[in-house]
Amino acid sequence: MNQINPYNDAIECLGEVAERYNIDEKDIEILKHPKKILMVNFPVHTSKGLKVISGYRVQYNDALGPTKGGLRFHPHVDIEGVKALAFWMTLKNAILDLPYGGAKGGITIDPQEFTEHDLEEISREYIRQIHLFIGPAKDIPAPDVYTNPKIMGWMMDEFGKIKGEHVPAMITGKPLSIGGSQARSYSTAMGGFFVLREALAKYKINPLQTKTAIHGFGNAGMNLAKIMDSNNMTVVAVSDSKGGIYNENGLNIESLIKHKKETRSVVDFAGAKPLTNNDILELNVDILVPAALENAITKSNAGNINAKIILELANGPITFKADKILYEKKIVVLPDILANAGGVTVSYFEWMQNLYGARWTEEEILKKLDDRMKTAFDELYDNYVSESYVDFRTAAYVYAIKKIIQAEKDRGRI
Ligand code: NAD
Repeated sequence: MNQINPYNDAIECLGEVAERYNIDEKDIEILKHPKKILMVNFPVHTSKGLKVISGYRVQYNDALGPTKGGLRFHPHVDIEGVKALAFWMTLKNAILDLPYGGAKGGITIDPQEFTEHDLEEISREYIRQIHLFIGPAKDIPAPDVYTNPKIMGWMMDEFGKIKGEHVPAMITGKPLSIGGSQARSYSTAMGGFFVLREALAKYKINPLQTKTAIHGFGNAGMNLAKIMDSNNMTVVAVSDSKGGIYNENGLNIESLIKHKKETRSVVDFAGAKPLTNNDILELNVDILVPAALENAITKSNAGNINAKIILELANGPITFKADKILYEKKIVVLPDILANAGGVTVSYFEWMQNLYGARWTEEEILKKLDDRMKTAFDELYDNYVSESYVDFRTAAYVYAIKKIIQAEKDRGRI
């Protein structure tokens, strides 16, 4: 899945957009390089003996404010992937009008190989390694693939011990009891759902008559299935790293979530046919949701995609070349830098609550999230139509790039 360098892909896309829409080459240069990169290698005594663990934190651009972005634990984490994710965070935060630059971090481990105690030691040591680099007004991490509120809680605790004070705003996605926000746990999916709702309305598609396939059944994918189900939409197929399942009449999402919790996978769910992870992407559905990792749709399978709309809940699931094939097939792609921005938006609400010592209700958060996602979608849609941009991703790139460049100019840096 990760053979293609996602960073080269992202920068190629940036270059093409800038050239096509006459954005000055000199201005664009600053966005072709991450501002700061920290790579750390640190020993940890784990249940499997002494391990030297590699970790990264990339602060891509801070023109709009302190950098912000998630933290991934995955065996394939490498510097090129983290740079790409940090670049996309930079654009995403600009599109949602958040007062943040973009960053991302990762640790190259397979969390399933370690005990909970090992993961706590690794998390705390990573914070000891990078604590000078991060902070509420510098760079604020959050959960991503295979990280969760518990890990954010350990990291906040370790940071507080080092600084000798409570600093809840240094990280988001924390448990509720220690400064987490209502709705953060399902905010990525909820934000995606709001974007999808707006897009379906524009294209005059009745959500109740659609069929959806979701590739990746973790925080983003599983919560989206739950939200769609509670809005009477039909999810016919889902998959996780072990494989996929399909029922053309719709899956019982509540039972499926129970099955996933009990068996740690969606495979072998009663009443559903097995599918491979590639089959699920090529199903004849209305809505396809890549919600796993980068490079799920490449030039080799883009021609076989049958969906009408793709909601990119994952970051970078479609390669640059695949995007062009989907465009030719007239498939509407709701790009990651808009579609999955609900997570960072509620992270922003969490950061604000921490800074002000405030507590907002779930209802208040959802209302604010809905307003932000709708405003961002409307703005991009209007630009897409009025400027005749080729697709939503291009409209989103141009909007974000212009905003960041203006901030760089106003700071007197370029
Ligand atoms: P997660 O760890 O909760 O879930 C990942 C899911 O993907 C799991 O079900 C896993 O089994 C599945 N998966 C892994 N490899 C797969 C493969 N090859 N084929 C099919 N499924 C596979 O992670 P998450 O937080 O849901 O993140 C998923 C995507 O959403 C990532 O691209 C992430 O960057 C993006 N995202 C997450 C958030 C967030 O707040 N969690 C915010 C924005 C974007």
